[in-house]
Amino acid sequence: MKLMLHVAPGIVRYPLIASVILETGALVNIERASIDAVSGEIVLEVPQDKCTTVKEAFESRGVKVLPLENPVIRDDNECVHCGACVSICPTGTFRFEDWLVVADSGKCIQCGACVVGCPHRALKLVLK
Ligand code: SF4
Ligand code: SF4
Repeated sequence: MKLMLHVAPGIVRYPLIASVILETGALVNIERASIDAVSGEIVLEVPQDKCTTVKEAFESRGVKVLPLENPVIRDDNECVHCGACVSICPTGTFRFEDWLVVADSGKCIQCGACVVGCPHRALKLVLK
């Protein structure tokens, strides 16, 4: 399961991920991170059985946590199965099956590249 962390100003300089790993023992993987001196947006892959524990550990430290259950959605009326998103996506979310593009949205890290690259504007990110 992927979790999106929104790290607010004031706590971004604390070793949040390290302390949560030590507390929970969860083997988390950082899949995307955009962090500067004042805030951060991080996508983590977390083992399914540790998801609730890890989420609560971050929340207790003041981090807003959103599970990425269906991070990218496609308008099937607009998609023409051109395959541009298959090439663009860095995580292999899209693939061809019988000449049609299908998606495994569980792989998405919400980088936004496909949204920009889709020539038919058929894709959008689910923002909570
Ligand atoms: S790039 Fe857009 S139109 Fe092309 S296959 Fe992907 S979603 Fe469909
Ligand atoms: S936002 Fe699009 S390109 Fe980025 S990981 Fe998700 S599906 Fe792939």
